[in-house]
Order: sequence, then C-alpha cells, then structure tokens
Amino acid sequence: MHASPDRQQIIRRRLQEALGKGFAHLMKRGALEAVIVAVRLLEDDPLFNAGTGSSLQEDAKVRMSASVMDGSTRRFAGVINIERVRNPVLVARALLKKEDRILAGIHAERFARRTGFKPWNPVTEERLRMLREKLRQPHGTVGAVAVDRRGRLAAATSTGGKMASSAGRVSDSALPAGNYATELAAISCTGLGEDIVDEAVAVRIAQKTADRTALSKAFAAVFKELMERKRKLGAIGVDRLGRLAWSSTLPCLYAAGRSSGRLIETF
Ligand code: ASP
Repeated sequence: MHASPDRQQIIRRRLQEALGKGFAHLMKRGALEAVIVAVRLLEDDPLFNAGTGSSLQEDAKVRMSASVMDGSTRRFAGVINIERVRNPVLVARALLKKEDRILAGIHAERFARRTGFKPWNPVTEERLRMLREKLRQPHGTVGAVAVDRRGRLAAATSTGGKMASSAGRVSDSALPAGNYATELAAISCTGLGEDIVDEAVAVRIAQKTADRTALSKAFAAVFKELMERKRKLGAIGVDRLGRLAWSSTLPCLYAAGRSSGRLIETF
C-alpha cells in the first residue's frame, strides 16, 4: 500500500539518512555496526513501525522485537516482545556476546536495565489514535543488511509487530525466518510475520546461496513460490560481493541501498 506523495518523500529522506550513517559506520567499524546504526536511527523515527512509533497490540501496549545476526560468526541474538526501551536493536546487540542470546518479555527488559538501558515509553499518540480508529497497519518493520570490505555480512531487523494483534503475539523479526546472515548472504524481511515464519524466508533464501547460487536467483526462486502461495511479505538482501537484491509480494517495499558507490532506491 502506497503512502501519500508527501509521506513518500519523508520516508525516502529518512531512509537515505539511515543509509548514509550506516555507510559511514560500514567504512569505520564494519558490517555489524553499520546495520545496527541504520536500524537504531529508524527505530527513533516515529514514522516507522519499530522502537518509538511501534504498532500497538490489542491491549494498547507496545511489544517490540528485534534481532541482529553476524554472518561471519553465524551468531544470532534477539529480544522478543520487549517493552519500555528506546532501541530494541541495541539490546539485541548486547545479547550477542552472551551465552543466552534470545530473551523475551519482562526478562528481556530486566536484562536491558541491568545493562544500562534507561526506561523509555515508545507509545505515540498517533499509534493510539490508529488503534482507536482501527486504522491500517503503519509502515513498516525496519531492517538493514550490509557487507564490509573484509567480506563480513550482517543483518538487523526491528518491529512493533502487527497493529491490534493478540497481546503477546510474537513477530518474525527476532527469529531467523525474518532476519538471517551467513558468510555468503544477509537477509531481512518485512510483512506478515505469520507468512514469513511459515515460509522461513530469510533462512531459506540464505540457504539457497550455499551452493553458490547467485543471491538474485535465490530471491527469484523463493519469491516465485511465495507469490504462488499468496504470501504477504518483502525482503532485502546483500551477498559477499555487495550485490543487492530485494523483492516483495506486496504493492510496495521502501528500500535504499548503496553498492560500489552507486545509490539504489526502490519505492
Ligand atoms: N513483520 C512484522 C510482523 O508481522 C510486521 C511488519 O513487517 O510490519 O510482526
């Protein structure tokens, strides 16, 4: 579903800002920091369904999910249905070094407090109004994928989930179905979480590249099946050589990317 032209302009600008900051970090600190910085910025923007401005569940609470995956070490970490933090992606990053790397609910929040994350209210008036007026799902889960000059890949994804969903519903964004990276490809998904989980989308695309199938071909093959099964979702990806891929079964996917200095956008 397309936003108004004005809103599209703002989305385009915000994505470019996140891309610019992420790219600067890519050069200095590598792929993992780059995707975290980009997602953090988008979480802070109430326009997107992640961090501040997240969708509300049916009980008017925000329960956010986010994950990071470092393809070079094949380590995944995430938070599921965390409340009262500003940047779920940063909590996920803090978990990456731990033995227990996926935490949910109040325990994820307690971990965040112990680690120094301050309490934060991510509920916005706009989302409360949308819930009251039963308005459509806001745009959208945020995600970033990157490869650095050492060939290390990373993916990060963050979401407020589905508007007015059952209290406690779990999104795909803190599961490998929605966010995954290997030493060959990094993938992040958006769209209907249940469809993404049913199809194990991010893992499936990444696995297809294991026999050296090009990422664009892996996207094409998986999305052909997703279309046939009328799934509602989109994904972005990058391979070890910095080749980008994206696809969507939805009318639109907002994405911006940079490869070998070239700026690529899709709306
Ligand atoms: N993937 C998210 C979820 O279903 C929603 C979205 O992408 O907007 O939880």
